[in-house]
Amino acid sequence: MTENSGPHGGHDHSHNDFQPDIKEPTENWEFLEIALRELLVDKGVLSAREIQDEIEAWEKKSPEKGAEIVAKAWVDEEFKVRLLEDANQTIREFGIEVEVLKMVALENTPELHHVVVCTLCSCYPRPILGVPPLWYKSKQYRSRVIREPRAVLQEFGTKLSDDTEIRVVDSTADCRYLVIPTRPVGTEKMTETELAKLITRDSMIGTAQARDPIGKRS
Ligand code: FE
Repeated sequence: MTENSGPHGGHDHSHNDFQPDIKEPTENWEFLEIALRELLVDKGVLSAREIQDEIEAWEKKSPEKGAEIVAKAWVDEEFKVRLLEDANQTIREFGIEVEVLKMVALENTPELHHVVVCTLCSCYPRPILGVPPLWYKSKQYRSRVIREPRAVLQEFGTKLSDDTEIRVVDSTADCRYLVIPTRPVGTEKMTETELAKLITRDSMIGTAQARDPIGKRS
């Protein structure tokens, strides 16, 4: 790629704002994606704008939705039971439609800790958690968390008691998991909105615990 091609072409490069070029496609699936996308646009099935709008809409989805759901499960036992029994139906109350995907909620407790992975590729509950973090898609994480989950969790700074059983669950094209992290102690008086702030993306994947409330943090 020459300096003036690409997304930053034409603007002043004299002030050292180096940005890496967007990688040229090399993989088969990348060529297939480009071919399919160009055909859809050529045939007038979709416009380039519509495709871009859809990408942007997905990029805007964030783990906040998941945190809202988990916070409600923490404060409302009846809701939690329903969420564990039929996540698809329950998250619909939050305006989330996952269509053909089967959503499964899993509750972490001091005795049993769930961690989510997709060993095959990068299946992830995007409607609830947004775009997955890069490490989730890495070969390292996908292969290692299955074999040595306790060691991988420690690298995330998550130290579990030796008595806690760790269960790694493998996502698939049609089944996605949402982890309900253990509610931290000392949060009994907090409101749902305050609680939601303790629920991080990683705690809903299971590589972390929910945050401790301020004041309790070391
Ligand atoms: Fe996958």
